[in-house]
Amino acid sequence: MRTYKGLRVFEGYALGKLKVYETLKVEKIVGIGMDEEFKRFEQAREETIQALDKSFMETLSKLGEEEAQLFETHKLMAEDLDFEDAVKAELMGNVSAEYAVLRAGEELATMFSSMDDAYMKERANDVKEVANRIVSFLKKEDKGFNLTEPSIIICDDLPSSELMKLDKNLILGIIFVKGGANSHVSILTRMLEIPAICSIEDLEVTKDLDGEYSILDASGAQLLIGPEMKSITLYAQKKKEYEDNKERLKAFKGKPTLTKDGKKTMIYSNIASSFEAENAIKNDSEGIGLFRSEFIYLDSKDYPTEDEQFEHYKRVVEEMKGKEVIIRTLDIGADKKIDYFDLPEEENPALGFRSIRICLKRPEIFATQLQALYRASHYGNLAVMIPMIISESEIDFVHEMCDLAKDNLRKRGLPFNEKMKIGIMVETPSAAIMSDVFAKKVDFFSIGTNDLSQYTLAIDRVNPNLTANFNPRHRSICRFIKMVCENAHQEGITVGICGELARDEIMLPFFLKIGIDELSVSPAYTLSLREQISKIDTNDVDVDKYIY
Ligand code: PEP
Ligand code: MG
Repeated sequence: MRTYKGLRVFEGYALGKLKVYETLKVEKIVGIGMDEEFKRFEQAREETIQALDKSFMETLSKLGEEEAQLFETHKLMAEDLDFEDAVKAELMGNVSAEYAVLRAGEELATMFSSMDDAYMKERANDVKEVANRIVSFLKKEDKGFNLTEPSIIICDDLPSSELMKLDKNLILGIIFVKGGANSHVSILTRMLEIPAICSIEDLEVTKDLDGEYSILDASGAQLLIGPEMKSITLYAQKKKEYEDNKERLKAFKGKPTLTKDGKKTMIYSNIASSFEAENAIKNDSEGIGLFRSEFIYLDSKDYPTEDEQFEHYKRVVEEMKGKEVIIRTLDIGADKKIDYFDLPEEENPALGFRSIRICLKRPEIFATQLQALYRASHYGNLAVMIPMIISESEIDFVHEMCDLAKDNLRKRGLPFNEKMKIGIMVETPSAAIMSDVFAKKVDFFSIGTNDLSQYTLAIDRVNPNLTANFNPRHRSICRFIKMVCENAHQEGITVGICGELARDEIMLPFFLKIGIDELSVSPAYTLSLREQISKIDTNDVDVDKYIY
């Protein structure tokens, strides 16, 4: 048995044969004459358009108009005259239609990615996808990739259009060996709730893998190729339990989150892209507790503009239809590096130049983000949260910057919510200790237990050698959480938890007893958390057990 580790795209289990999706390669470079090759291109383009129409209709009926729109955009690209001209220009070099289409696609993609507008930038991948689709028709391969039996797809990456045209009943799971967890196809995979993992090192996708019996343990983010009987039995059992559980949890949809003794709390979602808001809604989340906005910066080749950011933020608040959406401002540095920020190399990055510290030094970046956030506040229930706060002066700086952002929008005549809430993350020991003072200055707290544990325990959260020592249930952290909660409530502000500890079964009774107002977790955990909460009677919880 060979075991490969990756990153989770969507949880669940799959057992079955692998089906390889091979990335398109063009070997035929020399053409048979310009006119002939152009005719071949026209024919393949026509077939592509028909296939896209089909994908549009399928997606419309299964996922809705917003997701289906992508295929309409692809169709417009395939028909676009600039694209046709680019193909013609390439064909002048006596190359094959396949080669000309791929080159034309790359050329237009480069042009799109250099544009300022976020929407146009995102089109770069789409135009490449359209070109690939036409090439596969030219190679008469488009009908080649199909599933005839239930299979686990393994690929370097998969165009969204390919995914949508497949029979979903036959997709057991997907492994995107080279793909990222936030690519468009990964997001679609999550929406379709297909178990999937991505970003696997040391695994080459070759035809030899076709038909190999495997286990995809997407919950544990691993792939087991050629498992022995013992593992097959174990994972078949895990799969059954997972699916039975999922079915049972549906009973908690549409219900309030209440403890056995009737105490109310809220379950919010942690998301990393505006598209995931739909997932939060689907899982009956009561709000967004942490939108990690740095992923907008990580997905961009240059500083995202105010308009680009505004589109993302507006999409989330509109999708959540009046439910609270807490967007965290830029939190880069430490383990999240972005080339164009040109951050210095550091001895101790986790203790270094990161998040609000960067915003303080480079206020122009922060101003752009705040303006985009205030603009989006007009479209729903938006609140903003600042990471890595350690001192009052930082909070004062944030308020000054907010005032400047508001002035800016007033001058431009743009609408915004004057009273948008500004909160902070409590994720440093300093913020926890000072929480009585900070609670007077902000509208809410959200406890980031991942970093609060790292800094309280002085253990690097990403060091694999220290995983066993990294104990976020440590009594020092419980004491901090209790103290922060009391200080928040003393000043009449709410307090949530958005670190991984928020869904910890052992900690849950403690959180409910001390009165944490909101727990923010990945959307997929919403219903199971609601069920767990329904079984807890806070009268039976002994807080001392956690802190002494
Ligand atoms: C945290 O630190 O707990 C947190 C939620 O933020 P991140 O994991 O993004 O640092
Ligand atoms: Mg953090």
